[in-house]
Amino acid sequence: MSHVESELGKKMKSVQWQGQNCLSCVWFHTLDPLNADLFDRAMCIHPKLKVFQLLVTGRDWCNLWEEIKQKQIEHKQEMQMKAEEAAQDKQK
Ligand code: SF4
Repeated sequence: MSHVESELGKKMKSVQWQGQNCLSCVWFHTLDPLNADLFDRAMCIHPKLKVFQLLVTGRDWCNLWEEIKQKQIEHKQEMQMKAEEAAQDKQK
């Protein structure tokens, strides 16, 4: 039993959370920045990849990854909130 646990322990040590994923990439064009997560699917709008119209998930990645800045995330979220507020005002 302890042998099995130690084998599992060795495997777990080699598992790393993949941090440089599409969700954290500036080229991940999510349509829902308020709720985007690893399972979100969005178009990749990298200038070199856009032509392929790639639909990627937040968990995907590639070597063209470029980290999105917190300020950019906040801007996207603010824009979506404004759009949602405008849509609600129209319904009133
Ligand atoms: S496929 Fe590459 S460039 Fe496109 S969003 Fe994912 S990491 Fe970024």
